[in-house]
Amino acid sequence: MADTIKEKMEIPKTYNPKDVEDRWYQEWLEKGYFNAEVNPDKKPYTIVIPPPNVTAALHMGHAYNNTIQDIFIRYRRKQGYETLWLPGTDHAGIATQNVVEKELRRKNKTRFDLGREAFVERVWEWREQYGNRIIFQLKKMGCSCDWRRERFTMDEGLSRAVLEVFIRLYQKGLIYKGKYIINWCPRCGTAISDEEVEYKELTGRLWHIKYPLKNGKGHLVVATTRPETMLGDTAVAVHPEDERYAALIGQTVILPLMEREIPIIGDRQVDPEFGTGAVKVTPAHDPNDFEIGKRHKLEEINILNDDGSLNQSTKQYTGLDRFDARKKVVEDLEKLGLLLKIEEHHHSVGHCHRCDTIIEPWLSEQWFVRMKEMAKPAIEVVQAGRLKIHPAERWLKTYINWLENIRDWCISRQLWWGHRIPVYYCQKCGEMVAAQEQPDHCPKCQGNEWKQDENVLDTWFSSWLWPFSTLGWPDETPDLAYFYPTDVLATGPDIIFFWVARMVMAGMEFMEEIPFRDVYLNGIIRDNIGRKMSKSLGNGIDPVDIIDRYSADAMRFTLLMLSSEGQDINLSESHFEMGRNFSNKIWNAYRFLALNLDQPHDDYQNYKQHYQLADHWILSRLQTTISEVGKNLDNFRLNDSLNGVYHFFWHEFCDWYLELIKFRLSEEADPEQKKAVRAIAVHVMKTCMGLLHSYIPFISEEIWQRLKNEDDDSLVISAWPAAKQELVDTGVERDMQFVQNVIVAIRNIRSEMNVPPGSKADLVIKSDDKQRLALLNKQSEYLNRLARVKSIREVPHAEKVTGAAMAVVENIELFIPLAGLIDLTVERNRLQKEIDRLVNQVNGLNKKLLNKQFLEKAPEKVVNQEKEKLRDFSEKLSKLNKNLEQLN
Ligand SMILES: [Zn+2]
Ligand SMILES: [Zn+2]
Repeated sequence: MADTIKEKMEIPKTYNPKDVEDRWYQEWLEKGYFNAEVNPDKKPYTIVIPPPNVTAALHMGHAYNNTIQDIFIRYRRKQGYETLWLPGTDHAGIATQNVVEKELRRKNKTRFDLGREAFVERVWEWREQYGNRIIFQLKKMGCSCDWRRERFTMDEGLSRAVLEVFIRLYQKGLIYKGKYIINWCPRCGTAISDEEVEYKELTGRLWHIKYPLKNGKGHLVVATTRPETMLGDTAVAVHPEDERYAALIGQTVILPLMEREIPIIGDRQVDPEFGTGAVKVTPAHDPNDFEIGKRHKLEEINILNDDGSLNQSTKQYTGLDRFDARKKVVEDLEKLGLLLKIEEHHHSVGHCHRCDTIIEPWLSEQWFVRMKEMAKPAIEVVQAGRLKIHPAERWLKTYINWLENIRDWCISRQLWWGHRIPVYYCQKCGEMVAAQEQPDHCPKCQGNEWKQDENVLDTWFSSWLWPFSTLGWPDETPDLAYFYPTDVLATGPDIIFFWVARMVMAGMEFMEEIPFRDVYLNGIIRDNIGRKMSKSLGNGIDPVDIIDRYSADAMRFTLLMLSSEGQDINLSESHFEMGRNFSNKIWNAYRFLALNLDQPHDDYQNYKQHYQLADHWILSRLQTTISEVGKNLDNFRLNDSLNGVYHFFWHEFCDWYLELIKFRLSEEADPEQKKAVRAIAVHVMKTCMGLLHSYIPFISEEIWQRLKNEDDDSLVISAWPAAKQELVDTGVERDMQFVQNVIVAIRNIRSEMNVPPGSKADLVIKSDDKQRLALLNKQSEYLNRLARVKSIREVPHAEKVTGAAMAVVENIELFIPLAGLIDLTVERNRLQKEIDRLVNQVNGLNKKLLNKQFLEKAPEKVVNQEKEKLRDFSEKLSKLNKNLEQLN
C-alpha cells in the first residue's frame, strides 16, 4: 500500500515527451531490438530505405516517408517477423557536387582550382557532415533501423556492385558509347538523363526567318523558337508531299549570316501544319533534326561550348553566351531584312532538374544503357500482379506507360563526384577495355599505358542496385538469400521512373527476382496553400524543430492523420497541435487509471461474472478495432488504420468507458466491481498502446511500461494484439449505442435549455418497446451519472406530458419535465425552431424523391436511404408538433 501511494505521487500531471523519447530510443538501441539476423525459424520482413541524398538535412517529406516505413516495420516486428529495415544514404552525384561547388564559389574558387582529387576529398567531408546529420534526424524520428547495416552508395561493397554491373552489361552489349543528342546542362557542365529534365510551360517567341534560294528566285520562310541555332543549320526540310514545296526539293538555299549553301530536303517527319511547313534542320542541337540528319547524311555542326557559349564554328558570334547570341542573331537578321515576323509562342522548355538552368539538346559522346529488353520483365511482373503498386489506380498506368516507351539511358556524367566509369583506353592503340581495375597489358597490342574514362556514372546507376547491393551482392551472402526480395518499398511518386522502375529492371536482370513485393507511393507534403515546400519560398518545416517543439510522436501522428492514401498533404505548423493533443489525451487517461490503481497486473478475464453492459461493450468494440487496424495495415491503408484506433481510444474508451466506470471506482463501490473495471480498463489501455505503437512509438512504450507485467520486456517486441472473436457481441453494441443515444439526447436538452448542471431531472418515457424500457431501467445508474436523471417513469401514449422538453430516440419518446428547472417560453421557441428545420428537410427530400433524373441516376441503395430518411423525419416531425401542442 505504501508503494502505491508513492507511485501515485510520482505521476507527473502533464506529459513531457522530452524526457521520454530520447530515453526510450537509447534503451531500444542498447537492447538491440532493431537488429536483424538470418533466422531460419522466422519469416523475414525487409524494407530498404530510399537512401536520402547527402546534399542536405532531411525535410518534412522525408519525415513522412520514413514514418511510413517505420509503421510497417514495427507492425511486422510485433507480428513476429525477423524485420530488417536497412538504412543508408545516397552520394547523389550531381546534386552534391553542385552544393560543394557553391561553397567553393563563396571563396571565389572552382573545382578546377582544387583539382579532381582534392575536390572529391572535399565532397567526402561534406558527406560526413550531412550523412551524420541525416542519421541523427532519423533516430530522432524514432526510426527502428538496423544501424549496424548502414550503407552508402559509394562505400566499398556498393562500388564493387556498380563496377560488376557495368562490366556485365558492357559485355552483354547492353552498354554502349555513342555520339547522340543528349540533354546538356551548361551550368552543371554535364549530360543529364531524360528523366532529369523538368519541362515548364513558358511564353516564348516564334521567329519567322527568310532563307534566300540560291537561284535568286525568292526565299523559303522557316519558323524557330531558338534562332541562334540556325548558325548550325545544315538543311531545310519540307514534307515530301507538301505541294507548296514539291518543286524546291533538291534545290539549295544560302544560310543567312553564315553564308553557307545548304540543301532543301523532303522528310516525312516534318509537320506541314507547323509554321510555314518548312523547317530548319540543326542535327547537332535538336533530337528530331538529329534523326533527319542521320537519314539524309547531313553534316552535324556543333555551335556550342560546354558552358553554353558559342564556339568558333559560328564565326562572328564566337564567345557570346547563347542568349546574347540569340539577340544578336535576331538584330542582324532584321538589318538584312530577313526577319519576316515575330509571334508570341507557348511551348514547354526543358530545365535542369538540379539547378533549373534551361538545358540544351547537344550532340556529344556519352555512355548509354539499352533499356528496351530490360523493361519487358519489369512490365510483366506488375501486369501479372507479382509486384503490386499502391495506390494502383493512381500510379500503375504511369509506371507501365513509361516502361513501354522507354528510351536508352544516358549514364555518363561529366562530373567528378561519383563512380568513375570502369573503362580504360590503351594509349598505344586506342583499345577500350571495361574492367574492375586497370588491366596489365593491352589484349590487342600488349601496350601497358592506360587512361581511364574521365566520366562518372549517373547517380541512379548505383541506387538502382540498392535492394541487393546493400545485402552483399555480387557475393551470394546468407543475408541476400534470406532478406531478398524485400517486402515493401515506400517512396515518393516523383522518383517512380528514376528509381522504382529501374530497381525492378535491375532486380530482374541481376537477381532474376523482383526487388520488392509492394510499392507504396506516398503523397507529397505541401504548405497550407498547396505549394511545394522549398528553400526559396521559405515555407519549409524542419522535422527536428517540430520534434523539439511538439515531439516525434506528435509529428508522426499528425502526418498520418492528415494523409489519405497517396494524396498530397497540405501542412501548416499548427497542425501538429493535433498530435500533441492526442498525446495529452493518452496521458490523462493513463493518469486517471493510475490514480485508481493498486493492482495493475490483474487479468480482466478473472472477473467475467462482474461484467456489466459497458464492460461487454468496450471489450467487443476493442476486438473489432484490433481486427480493423490490422486489416487496414495489411492493405496499405495507414490513415484508415490510425483513424480506427484513434476514434476508438478517444471517443469510445475515454469519452464513454472511463466516464461510465468512474462511479464504479469510487470509495463506496463494490470491491469486486472495482477490480473488474480496473482490470478491463488497463487491458484496453495496454492493447491500444500496442495498436498505436507503430504510429507513436514513444508514448505508447512509456505508458505500456508503466502498466506491464513484471516479466514483460518492451512494447517494441511484445506480440501484436490478437482479436478474440468470442468477445464480439453486436447485440451488446446495439444496446450500448441506444443507451448512449439516450444520454446524448438528454444532455442536449439540458444544454439547450440551460438546465443548471447541478440539478437532477426526471425522465418520462413513452414507448411500446418493453425491451428498450427494461434496458433503460437496468442502466439507470448510467443515466444518473452521465445525464443526471434522478428517476425514470413510464407513461401511456395517451397521457399528456405538459411543460416538458422532448426528444425521440429510436421511436421512443423522452420527456424531461421542465417545471422547476427552467423557463418554459424558451423551450417553446426551441421546439418551433426544430420543427421549422425538419419541415425544410422533409420538403427537400420530397422534392428530391419526385425528381425523375435523381430516381433514374442514383443507385437503388441511395434512393432507399433517402426514402427511409424521409420516413424518419416525418415521424419525428409529427411527434415534435404534438409536443409543442402539449407545451402550449
Ligand atoms: Zn544544372
Ligand atoms: Zn593497345
